[in-house]
Formats: sequence, structure tokens, C-alpha cells
Amino acid sequence: MAIGAQLEPALRKAILAAADSRRVQSLVRRHGMRLGAARFVAGESLDECIAVLRRLNDQGLHANTTMLGEGVLEPGETERVVSAYEEVLDRIAAEELRANVALKLTHLGLEIDEELAYANMTRLLGKGSFIRIDMEQSQFVDATVRIYRRLRHDGFENVGTVLQAYLYRTPDDLDSLLPLSPNLRLVKGAYLEPADIAYPRKADVDAVYARLAERMLSGTGHVAIATHDETLIEHAIRYSEEHVVPRERFEFQMLYGVRPQLQLDLVRRGYKVLVATPYGPEWYPYLMRRLGERPANLLFFAKNTFRR
Ligand SMILES: Cc1cc2nc3c(=O)[nH]c(=O)nc-3n(C[C@H](O)[C@H](O)[C@H](O)COP(=O)(O)OP(=O)(O)OC[C@H]3O[C@@H](n4cnc5c(N)ncnc54)[C@H](O)[C@@H]3O)c2cc1C
Repeated sequence: MAIGAQLEPALRKAILAAADSRRVQSLVRRHGMRLGAARFVAGESLDECIAVLRRLNDQGLHANTTMLGEGVLEPGETERVVSAYEEVLDRIAAEELRANVALKLTHLGLEIDEELAYANMTRLLGKGSFIRIDMEQSQFVDATVRIYRRLRHDGFENVGTVLQAYLYRTPDDLDSLLPLSPNLRLVKGAYLEPADIAYPRKADVDAVYARLAERMLSGTGHVAIATHDETLIEHAIRYSEEHVVPRERFEFQMLYGVRPQLQLDLVRRGYKVLVATPYGPEWYPYLMRRLGERPANLLFFAKNTFRR
């Protein structure tokens, strides 16, 4: 189970233990949507999600959607996931939404066989729409970067991926990817990683994030500054102004349900803002990551629980 990197270690451990408890899982899975998961998840069905994507577009926001799920271990199950994503891509195109897809390679079978995940990606990218590959736990970073490079080498321009500022390796990964003029989303990192792999202190992660954002903005390709951290957002804006980085070269990205007013304020200031808007019945691990990022979210969830 992955939990956000911003809480005190003891509290994060407690959330971790609670999230893995069968009783908590069964209670939250049964009632979570009603209790507050709907703040972060755009429903359980594609129809519900499409309505949310349209509402975001109407507000001047772009969106991407993710069918929640990860860690698929059955080849037959990945076939179901790919077919469902084909339907998502067709619906987005048919409804002319300003939206794309972000997905996880372990949902497409990365843990079964890297070739299977690669083949599934080529099948989806063959439809022509842009797809971003999310970055998962550190054990999947090598394979994710490898698959991204291979897709680009094989001529797929409509693919992007993600780099996580908390990993010590990320500046090197960025240097190695920049010659490809990549489409990269920069995040702080959402998983609980050991201190020999990732910065444990938030202040260090924030400092690295600012440096990586500068490097991306002064390189080539497209940059998605994905954070709700206003200091880092303003830093990126200032840097882009001082270095005359055209606005088409970057965008801001935030999560559905997190800082919605900030999203709209940036749109009003003339910036492109994309809202990552996941949906689907398998929302439990996603919700736990969001709750783990902020103690206030736990209180919000707990309050809803006791209100009923
Ligand atoms: C579009 C997008 C895509 C992402 N994709 C990935 C990915 O592929 N891989 C990955 O590892 N991580 C991903 N993340 C998660 C990311 O790594 C962080 O865990 C998450 O964004 C929280 O960090 P922050 O940058 O907002 O900064 P923080 O310092 O955590 O937060 C800054 C401020 O934002 C607000 N805030 C932040 N999180 C929340 C929350 N959950 N609820 C309410 N308020 C909040 C608070 O006001 C907080 O003070 C993604 C995030 C975004 C926005």
C-alpha cells in the first residue's frame, strides 16, 4: 500500500497499518463513496466520469482520466483493462472532450511481463490520442522509463510519462530523457519509499522539485507542473517569465477534488490547467494515497463517517 510522503512518519505508519486491515478495507470499500471518496473520484462508471469531465471542460479546465486499478497479475485481466481503455478513448473522442488518459503500466500487466505491458501500450497508442504513463513505486521506475523510451524509439509521439522529485535518481533520469524532447509530468511522489532511494524530508523534496522544474522549463519538450503547492507553482511562473518560456510549453496539473479554486484562479490568469480525474470501482488504494497526503483529509473522511 502506498501512502503520501508528506505526513509525519509515525502517522503515516498508522494510516498504513489501518489501510491494510481487512475490517477497515471492507468498511471503506462498502461505504467509502458515500462517506467522502466521491470528493476525489469521479464516480464508479464511465458515464459518471464523462459528466464530470464535461463539467471541468465547461469551467475552462482540461482533464485526464484514469480507470482506477493497478497491480494486475492475470493476463486475461489486462485484456479487459485494455478493452475498457479503448472504450474510454472512443468516448472522449466522440464527446469531443478536452481530455486524455493517464494509466499505470502495472494495470496493463507490467508485473506479469514487460512485453505484455509494452504490447498493450502500443495497442492503445495506435488509436492516436495522447496517453500519459503514470509513475508507480520505485521498483517499476526502470521498466517504465525503458518502455517510454522504446515507445518513442518506435515512433509513438503521443505518449508522455512522469518523474518523481523525491527519488535521488530523478535528475539523472531527466538528463537522459531531455534529448527526446519528452512530454513529462513532474510530481513530488506519492509512495512510501525507503530513505536510501528517496528524500524522506518534505523540505528536500520541495527544493529538488523547484530545480527539476527549472531544468524542464529550460529544456525542450512539454512540461506538466503537477502540484498543489502554491510556492512551487509561483516559482515555475516566475521562472517561465524571467526566461521567456512560452506558455504553450507547459501546463499545471492538479488532482480532482484538491484545491479547485486554485485551479480556476490559474485558468483566469491565462494558464492551461489539467485536472487528473480518476474513476472506477477500484478506488481504494487511490483514496488511501490522497488521505495519506494530508491529515485534514482524514478528518474530512472521519467527520462524514460520524455524521451518519
Ligand atoms: C496531476 C497529478 C498527477 C500525479 N501523478 C502521480 C504519479 O504518476 N506518481 C506519483 O508518485 N504521484 C503522482 N501524483 C501525486 C504527487 O506525487 C503528490 O503525492 C501529490 O500531488 C501531493 O503533493 P503536492 O505536490 O500537491 O504537495 P504537498 O506539499 O503535499 O501539498 C501542497 C498543498 O496542496 C494541498 N494538498 C496536497 N495534497 C492534497 C490532498 N491529497 N488533499 C487536499 N489537499 C492537498 C494542501 O493544501 C497542501 O498544503 C500526482 C499528482 C498530481 C497533481
